[in-house]
This record gives sequence, C-alpha cells and structure tokens, in this order.
Amino acid sequence: MQVTILGNNSALPAFGRHPTAQAVSVGGETILLDCGEGTQIQMERYGIRWRKISHIFISHLHGDHYFGLPGLINSMSLLGRTIPLNLYAPAAIMDILNPILQVADTRLSYEFQFHPIEENAEAILVDTPTYQVKAFPVEHRIACHGFVITEKNNARKLLPDKCREYEVPTYFFERIKAGEDYERKDGLLVKSEWVTAAGIPPRRYAYCADTLCTDSFLHHIRSVDLLYHESTYLHEDVAKATMRYHTTARQAAELAARAEVGHLLLGHYSSKYKDTAAFQQEAAAYFSPVTASLEGTIYEV
Ligand SMILES: [Zn+2]
Repeated sequence: MQVTILGNNSALPAFGRHPTAQAVSVGGETILLDCGEGTQIQMERYGIRWRKISHIFISHLHGDHYFGLPGLINSMSLLGRTIPLNLYAPAAIMDILNPILQVADTRLSYEFQFHPIEENAEAILVDTPTYQVKAFPVEHRIACHGFVITEKNNARKLLPDKCREYEVPTYFFERIKAGEDYERKDGLLVKSEWVTAAGIPPRRYAYCADTLCTDSFLHHIRSVDLLYHESTYLHEDVAKATMRYHTTARQAAELAARAEVGHLLLGHYSSKYKDTAAFQQEAAAYFSPVTASLEGTIYEV
C-alpha cells in the first residue's frame, strides 16, 4: 500500500502547497482521500491514473477538502469514463454537487454512486477481498471523519516442499492457503498449518484530517503502520489550534506515541508557515519516526 500526497496545506494554497488530497494505492486500485481544489491538476502532475479511481472519501465539508470534486467528476466524464464512481461523504455534499452539475448541464458518461457517511458514526464503508476502508468520527468544528485503510494481504503462504510431502494436489492449493484442511484418499487429514506458513500481517493506514488533538479515536488508530495526522500549527500556537479544532505538531507526535503507531506523517500546514521542516523538528522530540509530508512524495505503508 502506498500513499501519494497531492495536497497537504490547510485552508488556502500557499508556498506551492495545495489544499488536502491524497491518493492511496491498495489492492490494485487507487482511492482518493479528500479532494481539495486543484486535485485533478496534482493527479496529472504526479501520474495518478484516473481510471484506477473507483472510490472517493471526503472527511468533512470544509471547502478545502472537496472543492476539487466538481472538476474531477466532470473531467472523468469528458474522458469517457464508463466504470462507476463511488463517493462517500456527509449527505449535504449533494446539495452542492447536484446544482453545479445541473446548471452546467453535465451528463455523466458513467454511473455516479453516492454513499452518505452518517454523522458521528463509525462504519465500514468498503470491504473488498483485498482491502477495507473504515470511517470513524474525529473532533472538528463540523462533523468530520478519519479513515483507516486495511490491506488484506494476510493469506497464508504455501510451502511447496511440504505440499509434496503430504501429497496435496495443486487444485487444492488455494483452499488450503485459505485455511481449509485436505483429506487424502487414505483418510489422512492434512492440516492447513502443516503445509503453509503465516502470511504477512495486514498493513494499516490511518488518515486523520481536521481534528482537535484528542484520545477519543485512539482505539481506531492504535498500532497502525502509518498515521497521517493533521498538524496545522506549531506548538507555540496551541491556543489557536485548540480554539479552531486543530492540532499542533507536538500534539500529533504525543498522540502517535500513545497510539504506538509505526510511523507518523504530518500535514495540513497552516498557510502562515513557509518552511515545514520546523514541524518535523518539533514532532521528532516527542515521537520517532516522523516525517513532515511533501506533496508529490509517495509514502510506503
Ligand atoms: Zn476543516
């Protein structure tokens, strides 16, 4: 699983940074997390393929997290998309998208499926054989959700020598890998664990967009391999951060330590900061490893 940062600034574009958007490639698909203004331009710049995107998730309805949607939806149609597009967002987003598409007389070339995210609820939004996306509430000025993406690559690994030794036929390989036992003609029950080894544990990525620093969702992000957490301000502005339901770099690092995550990725920088190195520096005193995200960079989960 890989995360490409398309936009990591808060409210305004500044110093070459864009409003929030990320592309996550998982299970052979690409999913978008938030879609700030300019997302389709950033996608083109960083080689994110439109056709691979079938699911878009919007954390909340502050404009810097979805003003790029009307353009993207329209462009996908102009490019002759035929596969369905699924949008997961707070219900009120359609009060904005529908009139825009109507006034522009947009006739989509593909099926557009909208799935409302219920306010303040946790829910499994997508569950495929290769990955799962779960939403959980965070604490912002308006209803806002974080997402946890789990890559399901935990199938057991086949041990060919053992399969030969126990005479497991090739047609049964997939089933025995999935945990089923095989009964031989002589009556011996070949246990799955005799001929397979444990697979790679599933990788997990958590995305916490705009939120106050809080432990209220700690159980959702505990032990994830990579945590993207907003750090709108440095800690000298902690009062402002709290008042505006945002987090400082130091707070994000302290939360990452309490949640025992594998790696912390910072972003959603206020446009008042030109240089983001100070975010990494501040956070590193409280948690390691930490990276101040850069647009266009691909982070391995
Ligand atoms: Zn916001």
